[in-house]
Amino acid sequence: MQAARDAGGRRVKIAACFWSPRVSDLILRLALPSPLRRLFDYLPPAGTLPDALQPGMRVRVPFGRRELIGILVEVAEHSEVPADKLKPALQLLDGQSPVPPAFFSLCLWAAQYYQHSLGDTLSWALPVLLRQGEPAEARQERFWSATADARLDDPRLNRAPRQREALQTLAQHPHGVAHALLSKLLLNKDSLELLREKGLVEVEVRRHASAPRPTSWLAQPELPLNPEQRSAVEAIRSGFGGFTAFLLAGVTGSGKTEVYLQLIRETLEAGKQALVLIPEINLGPQTLARFERRFNARIALLHSGINDRERLDAWLAARDGEADIIIGTRSALFTPMLRPGLIIIDEEHDASYKQQEGLRYHARDLALVRARQEQVPIVLGSATPSLESLHNAHAGRYAMLRLTQRAGGAQPPRFLRLDVKSRALDSGISGPLQQAIGQTLKAGQQVLVFLNRRGFAPTLLCHDCGWLSECPRCDARMTVHQRSRELRCHHCGHSERQPSNCPTCNNVDLRPVGAGTERAEERLAILFPDVPVLRVDRDSTARKDAMSTLYTTVQRGEPCILVGTQMLAKGHHFPRVTLVAILDADGGLFSADFRASERMAQLIVQVAGRAGRAEEPGKVIIQSHLADHPLLVQLTEQGYFAFAEQALSERRGAGLPPFCHLALLRAEAHKPGQAEGFLDEACTEAEQLLSDFKLHGVELLGPIPAPMERRAGRYRAQLLIQANARAPLHRLLSTWMQRLESLPTGRAVRWSLDVDPIDLF
Ligand code: ADP
Ligand code: ZN
Ligand code: ZN
Repeated sequence: MQAARDAGGRRVKIAACFWSPRVSDLILRLALPSPLRRLFDYLPPAGTLPDALQPGMRVRVPFGRRELIGILVEVAEHSEVPADKLKPALQLLDGQSPVPPAFFSLCLWAAQYYQHSLGDTLSWALPVLLRQGEPAEARQERFWSATADARLDDPRLNRAPRQREALQTLAQHPHGVAHALLSKLLLNKDSLELLREKGLVEVEVRRHASAPRPTSWLAQPELPLNPEQRSAVEAIRSGFGGFTAFLLAGVTGSGKTEVYLQLIRETLEAGKQALVLIPEINLGPQTLARFERRFNARIALLHSGINDRERLDAWLAARDGEADIIIGTRSALFTPMLRPGLIIIDEEHDASYKQQEGLRYHARDLALVRARQEQVPIVLGSATPSLESLHNAHAGRYAMLRLTQRAGGAQPPRFLRLDVKSRALDSGISGPLQQAIGQTLKAGQQVLVFLNRRGFAPTLLCHDCGWLSECPRCDARMTVHQRSRELRCHHCGHSERQPSNCPTCNNVDLRPVGAGTERAEERLAILFPDVPVLRVDRDSTARKDAMSTLYTTVQRGEPCILVGTQMLAKGHHFPRVTLVAILDADGGLFSADFRASERMAQLIVQVAGRAGRAEEPGKVIIQSHLADHPLLVQLTEQGYFAFAEQALSERRGAGLPPFCHLALLRAEAHKPGQAEGFLDEACTEAEQLLSDFKLHGVELLGPIPAPMERRAGRYRAQLLIQANARAPLHRLLSTWMQRLESLPTGRAVRWSLDVDPIDLF
């Protein structure tokens, strides 16, 4: 029997013994979808057999005036709730637990570590339809087929040509045609019904047949590996069958994906399943197509673009071992597998692995926990590993594997730092950069211009009175979106029509200040009228076919300019791009966020990695007002790893992560001061607990107003907790959260805890 502690520190049995003789004596302890960090006691529904109860089963219960679906965590014999207050549950929804024990353990671990309610965690980790009570079985479908003795020359069909045609089509599908596919095959349901009445057609209800295991998993030959790739594959293969963590640090284009593919093939051959997590932004058709082309395998896809039904089907297929490869974004981490064999986290440094609301988990960190629980190897891949992962590799927790060469012989790009101090910038583009772009286009090649700011300009300014387009709900400026004639706040989503006169002085001389992608696009189109200029950002790709238009143009290979945000930076292959221009590298060097320089370096290297992937070598021009900044110099002259070592030693000196552990308590409220008031009390409670428990090495910093104090009409403040070690931090957090739940001041504010925050804003 496994045991653990719930968020309240109580023991929670994961697999309890349920063999009490009388069900009426039993108490069901349920996790309910509620933010409260506790379990809820109910009596079993009338007529329940005690043997029928398994942890993980879904139970419908009355809750206030509503009904909720909870998850059975354990069965107890006593409850602290008085007997006359205990309510019977309404219904058991499952005949057996829909979730395997491993799923349960992972959720339990996540709830404890991130100090989140177990009920919320479980219900969030389940597909929506299961949360809503849908049966947890793969969907049954009706299949139509011709009966064994049906004949096309049956005389009853002489005067029914449409029925004969339908029978003919059906006869071509000996395994039957799924009901959902009838219309695709131009089969008419009425004709089929008539045929059925004649006994010529039959209907069977069953699951989609599990495809027989293919004789070869490969649909396409593999590339012969280069020596670095081969030793990486061999090292990871030797870890099969148990838990080992590998950090595959390979420069962009070094063939990491090829390494993944060959490891997956070996996993499939061993009869196991592979889980591949990719960042939100990488879910381009290119990545998927590569997996689909390579394997004769059933691939389950889980990402934000699928509907609830598709998600449930994919989840069930993975759980039941019917999907061989599971590919998805962050939340796909929770997909159960019948025969787990390998976990891969591509671009492990990517910030989209951290969920920023509700259960604030980091999918990479949780994937390591899962790999350890399920005893499978895990591969973290990146050209620009996070400082956390590099630190873990240095400490011997991860085995580091390096791929230093681009596969297929492409040269690494050359970097050029372009000092733009006191240079005129035309929509963000300096004179020397314009020339370089012109030369590249003239040589018949393509250019990528990177600017991590969408919209036309970050601010609208009145030249007469100094009015600025401030958001009425945030301490932030609204971005000018010229195309739609709007001002939009990128923090709260508020938007207004762009004014033609100053709202304060009525002057008409309103000027956009600074440049976003829309402005750069517009300007480049004027400067280089003979080539297509294509913009890629969240606004432009809202149009469904935008990405495919882009690919078609780029693949044609003729000169063109791509302008975009980080959507352009990752996972794409643009073989004809030989010049990458980074319009503004200053943000990462000025920011108050200690992670800003790491992010900037990763972004520069990733964007640079798009250049010169084929025959022609690439060039990267970085515009900056701080072109001689040591971090920028180190990055461009000695590469990412030199930068990372430097940045790590700075973090060590400053006592910042990964050399300490952080948790951030955030609060927001409608009235100024309210959030801070709550945090003040929280701080006092924490100090009390630290002294009661005699915990050392934990510091409370704050409360302070959040860097953007007002957002979406709410006033925000935060309290940072910094600790030398995890144990005292978590000891504090679990009791502290219970206390905060009962603070009356907590009711008027919205508060949340973020363990290992990656964004301190
Ligand atoms: P990464 O994932 O590290 O960016 P990819 O796996 O996408 O790298 O490889 C980059 C390019 O090099 C791809 O076009 C891929 O087909 C090619 N490639 C990878 N491995 C090899 C190899 N061993 N031999 C030849 N080409 C390779
Ligand atoms: Zn004005
Ligand atoms: Zn706003």
